[in-house]
Amino acid sequence: MKILKGYTKEELEEKKKKEQKEIKAEQMKQIEKEKITFINNKVPPEFISKVFYQLDSGYLCPQCRKDIGQNSVNFFGTESLKDLYCMMNDIPCENCANSNFQMDQNKAIIEVEKSISNNAFGSLYVIVGAKTYFASFDMIPNQINRLFFTDLGIPETASIIEISYTPSGKYFPLEMHGNNSRIKQQYSDNSVRLWPADLYYMKDLKDSNVSVVITFFENNDDIVINNLLDAIDAFTMSNKKNFVMSLNRVFELLIGQVCFKEFHKRKGKNDVNNFLKSSATYGHQLNHLISLISKSNNAIEIDNEIISKMNTLRKFRNDIAHTGNWDNIEDKLSYNEMKKYLANCIVGASVIYKLLESV
Ligand SMILES: [Zn+2]
Repeated sequence: MKILKGYTKEELEEKKKKEQKEIKAEQMKQIEKEKITFINNKVPPEFISKVFYQLDSGYLCPQCRKDIGQNSVNFFGTESLKDLYCMMNDIPCENCANSNFQMDQNKAIIEVEKSISNNAFGSLYVIVGAKTYFASFDMIPNQINRLFFTDLGIPETASIIEISYTPSGKYFPLEMHGNNSRIKQQYSDNSVRLWPADLYYMKDLKDSNVSVVITFFENNDDIVINNLLDAIDAFTMSNKKNFVMSLNRVFELLIGQVCFKEFHKRKGKNDVNNFLKSSATYGHQLNHLISLISKSNNAIEIDNEIISKMNTLRKFRNDIAHTGNWDNIEDKLSYNEMKKYLANCIVGASVIYKLLESV
């Protein structure tokens, strides 16, 4: 039976298959043409994570660093962030096997504030376990240059947090966007498309080198860490409303987990959930229950100053959620204030992770 312009059904399917194969081959050719070739540097892509953050190497606690006299690399104040990261994730010291080191919470807040101010190479994201890779390449003029993250060893399932570009030649790499410039590339196909723009008309310059620093996050299921990541993003983008909501959720979720664990020792799951939802709500948990739970378990206590800061943040959150009015927050939350809230929350969250193990 002939069904279209003299083709049989089988012939038509064969024709379709052939066409699809040709399209695929054409696409592959295009990808090969656009694909960036990285320059084989003396250092591997992961050297920033390895040298600056040292997340992959053995961890030494503050006391052992002092005793051994070993200075870990602390260019951007990442040392204290790494201490808190190891505390959150129960990573023990390589030397003394202790994962329960004493922490001056006030001092830690000041240190974290410093690293928030520096935040060089996305170092602040160390606290959620993000990594930062480095690479360089030469841009090909007059065409799309496409950078594939997996070519640098970044896992396919990772989320790209940020990319910093440093051109040392004539081309500035512009990230391409759709017809509406608000719609940015989401890097969901594991790549970024760049256009080599000769912004300064440096005709005599032959070099076309660009360096990139890419910070990425290997997705995990911890909803607290995901909210902390959102809060750091909102801080970076000065999105005060999202900052307040996400940062408050970090603390509310963690405090809720501690209270649940404590009361679940004596009562069933539904009873405890009802009690925490209707009677002992977050405000009560934060202001009264959490310190009682610490005391009764003979466990680490959150500094009062952190509680007080998080309590103000809770009120900001309620203003936004209940009245929809956040003019107040816009005025009260300067960059420095946001920095303080973030540092308090990071240190407080590390303490609560520790407390969670003792309850
Ligand atoms: Zn140690």
